[in-house]
Amino acid sequence: MTRSEAPAADLSKVERVLIRGRAVIPVSKRGLVISKGVVLIDNGEIAYVGEQEGSAGRWSKDDLVIDEPYGVVLPGFIDTHVHLAQALIRGFVPDSVTLIPWLRDWVWRLQGLYEHEDGKASAELCVLEMLRTGTTTFLEAGLHSRYGIDGVAESVLRSGIRAMLSKKVMDMKGYATVEDALPEGMVEDGEECIEQFLDARRKWSGAGGGRLDFWIGLRTPGAVSDEMFERVSELADETGAGVTMHLAEVKEDLRYFASRGLTPATFLRRFGLLGRKRVYVHCVWLSEDDMDVFAETGTSVVHCPSSNAKLGSGVAPVVRMLDKRVNVSLGCDGGPSNDSYDLVREMKVAALFQKALHGPDRFTAWDALEMSTVNGARALGLEDLIGSLEVGKRGDVVVIRTKGPSLTPYTDPVSLIVYAATGRDVAHVLVDGQPVVMDGKVLTLDEEEVLRNAEERFEVVKEKFLRART
Ligand SMILES: [Zn+2]
Repeated sequence: MTRSEAPAADLSKVERVLIRGRAVIPVSKRGLVISKGVVLIDNGEIAYVGEQEGSAGRWSKDDLVIDEPYGVVLPGFIDTHVHLAQALIRGFVPDSVTLIPWLRDWVWRLQGLYEHEDGKASAELCVLEMLRTGTTTFLEAGLHSRYGIDGVAESVLRSGIRAMLSKKVMDMKGYATVEDALPEGMVEDGEECIEQFLDARRKWSGAGGGRLDFWIGLRTPGAVSDEMFERVSELADETGAGVTMHLAEVKEDLRYFASRGLTPATFLRRFGLLGRKRVYVHCVWLSEDDMDVFAETGTSVVHCPSSNAKLGSGVAPVVRMLDKRVNVSLGCDGGPSNDSYDLVREMKVAALFQKALHGPDRFTAWDALEMSTVNGARALGLEDLIGSLEVGKRGDVVVIRTKGPSLTPYTDPVSLIVYAATGRDVAHVLVDGQPVVMDGKVLTLDEEEVLRNAEERFEVVKEKFLRART
């Protein structure tokens, strides 16, 4: 992420920031909590992490000082599975359908009616919520050209968030073994997808001083032809782009692989799609053998517990995967399946499900915190830059204010953050050392305008959807 033809984001530059809180949790080492801690960021890079006592000589009166006596300072959260386009249809899809009819009759049908203005309005709404709740980096699942890729990328850049956007590749009408699942508006020509990916990568990868990158988002087995799997695999190797895809979310996926004499892992191996920056979402139905292949090859899994539960897809075997040293990160998924882009809340759901299945000692608050920070960074191939508060890493920082009835008394801060806090307790957010949220207010987007646009564009999409159904 070094070169860019895109304009730099219009943020007034802050050179040095000092953040002081009642605790700093760097997530560099399990169990490490620095009481009365401080983080110093110099020109976007973390220059010091430690105790406040003895740090006086490290800062000057010209620095921006964020003094938060109730603050717990953490690395910014990393959401590794986000559908920007689905924020606009939050709450509109019935909560009584399983994945395939949910996609075929509702989500793909709605998104197949989008115009560029809808894609942009949804992306801005989604990013507003993510920033407000402490997400500093996200991986987009796959943008359809209908959403207006440049408009979405421009909004994401301007917001100040760090993002791996991706071009959706979906050149067939199916889902697993179900034919004709996709409405006309969603299928694209494979070669056009590749052209759009290359164009977007040239324009946006490296923009914002390296905050943006552009990946490939294969939709799902059954919706992508073998030719495109091969093409994407080669192209990803050539360009260095990451690849993400929904995988083994529901049992129908396993039937698809079995119909070809394969499993999820042997399918991916056949197309050369295992390894670093290969990020597979859900993996509810991976076998022990598949997990072993993921562990051996350094292939990452994204766990989306709320989405899997709401759609009745199951609970992913996260404890087993972590035991086998598969890298598992966390994702909120989409507006109609979660219905929230708040990764703080998602940590609690992840922890509770694994505890319910395996007992309280097999998955802890620390596991959830690592999944939403360091494991997310590893999935994206950015573990040297983000995911923990360490000298030399980028200044992506979140301050959660542990004040008020839900967060009193102040006890174990990790337990408080995972089980008692929500994203609404986030007070300040910095990306690359630049403040993007201060005192709960997003500085880079006009909140009123974003909410108004989203309301208006949802009405337009809803009208078209209802008219098409009659
Ligand atoms: Zn998804």
